[in-house]
Amino acid sequence: MSGKTYIEPQTSVPVYDECDVLVVGGGAAGHSAAIAAARAGCKNVILMERYGYCGGDVTGGYVLLIPDLSFHNKVYVRGIQEEWFERLQKIPGAVAGPDPKTGVIGSTNPALVRAWGAVGGASRVEPPRVCFGFMVEPNQMKIEMDVMLDELKDSIRVMYHSWGCKPIMEGNVCKGVFFESKEGRKVVLAKVIIDATGDADICRISGAPTSSAIDDECRCSSTALVYRIGGISMSEYSRWKKENPQAAMQMGKDLAGIHGFRSAIIAGPTDSVAWVNNWQPQRDCSKIADLTATEMDCRLKIREALNYYKEVCPEVFHDAFLYDIAPQAGTRGSHRIVGEHIIGQNDWAFPKTFDDTIAWHCTVDTLNDNAPIEIPYRAILPQKVDNILAPGRHISADKIAIDNVNLIPQCVGTGQAAGVAAAVAVAEGSTTRTVNIKKVQDILAGEQNVPLPRNEHTDPSYMENLVEHEYGLYTDPAKRARAAGDGTVYRHWTISAGGGDPNKK
Ligand SMILES: Cc1cc2nc3c(=O)[nH]c(=O)nc-3n(C[C@H](O)[C@H](O)[C@H](O)COP(=O)(O)OP(=O)(O)OC[C@H]3O[C@@H](n4cnc5c(N)ncnc54)[C@H](O)[C@@H]3O)c2cc1C
Repeated sequence: MSGKTYIEPQTSVPVYDECDVLVVGGGAAGHSAAIAAARAGCKNVILMERYGYCGGDVTGGYVLLIPDLSFHNKVYVRGIQEEWFERLQKIPGAVAGPDPKTGVIGSTNPALVRAWGAVGGASRVEPPRVCFGFMVEPNQMKIEMDVMLDELKDSIRVMYHSWGCKPIMEGNVCKGVFFESKEGRKVVLAKVIIDATGDADICRISGAPTSSAIDDECRCSSTALVYRIGGISMSEYSRWKKENPQAAMQMGKDLAGIHGFRSAIIAGPTDSVAWVNNWQPQRDCSKIADLTATEMDCRLKIREALNYYKEVCPEVFHDAFLYDIAPQAGTRGSHRIVGEHIIGQNDWAFPKTFDDTIAWHCTVDTLNDNAPIEIPYRAILPQKVDNILAPGRHISADKIAIDNVNLIPQCVGTGQAAGVAAAVAVAEGSTTRTVNIKKVQDILAGEQNVPLPRNEHTDPSYMENLVEHEYGLYTDPAKRARAAGDGTVYRHWTISAGGGDPNKK
């Protein structure tokens, strides 16, 4: 930044459109929000997205892996997330994962655990069992997201290639959003605005507090540019790694040396195509320089990396070729809202319950044996402003909890809840702060197929399953002792009993 400033002349800006619910950002969270709002009865929804497709990190960043949707034999993460699987299952090559309808979820049969072990997030290690998780083909997902919007075209107007840049604030109430496009600067007016930009783009300049604090060891402090390799066999590669563990380990180290950051070759839904995930440390995906470096540093080394694969492992890579590069940089985290509740690590290490729970989600963290944690509505409700909700990866969470709470399922789940809350607020003439949460929960748990704890629309077997399996950490004496503050480092942080509650000032 040069430090100089320029005063922009005042001008009047045309109103492009008006709606009841405006969703800015069409990623996992925003797309789900728009769909859920329309299904909850809102007939006047606009979905504004800066690129020409929906899905964000999932379809544009090639993040293929949707993990850990079940606890033992019950699938807790359902709703729109489960619908993705059901829809893609009908399309050849679009998805890989165990079908819950076959009764396989929770099975400890070693053959089944091994079979589904190749799908990331579809098996648990301790004890080994099949879990519901799946991998999607991103371009099929992109198409399906358009199909879902098209089915609701009477209620949702899609505005691709429109970049939301500033909220219209009257006092602390948001009334719409300025956006930039090839048509110039215009505004959309709305009753409720859902900021689903992932980087709190709208909240950040609305007067609502946000935070960009991040633990350097967390994945959220890194960016990525995913690319894919074709002409291989991932099952052959797995076999090669098992037979050559030393060489495989060396390969990982050498790859990091070539790229300058950790990279990993991971199976996708098709055996002949792998994706190369990477973690470019301490890069802020809301900064121009960091985003530029993320893309260029990776691309400039892809050819060298490909030649290296062929050289060290010709058995698998001799015909390998660069299949494609993700159309957008992978953005794990930057700014997030400081909501009316800040999710902390203890929210899933201990059995926290909330009156305003809007999602009940397993997380990849094995700390609580993958038991579902409750996500309260207040975690998507920014402080100080009204009529803005902020679901998705910029949800209100502390600098460590954010690592687990912003995965795709949580983004879809909080997005779906935000959409329903916005629809209820509009229908009842309330605001995002005064909305009838019980009604929101009833719609989610009822017609929208989202199990919620203590809700009469939710089959009691979901809660019985938690009781039967002692709900993870807090009922296992050994784990409880560890959590009670004996200083055991778990993964990269230390759990402290009762401490570290980010809501306590
Ligand atoms: C490389 C990588 C690997 C990951 N691995 C996994 C994994 O294995 N499993 C998992 O569950 N999660 C994983 N994650 C995390 C997960 O993918 C994301 O947290 C999640 O997809 C975010 O969804 P979202 O909708 O909140 O945000 P995004 O996907 O970022 O969507 C935001 C959308 O808003 C649009 N947008 C942004 N700003 C504006 C604006 N101002 N105006 C208009 N539109 C705007 C964007 O174009 C985008 O479409 C990974 C992330 C990355 C980057």
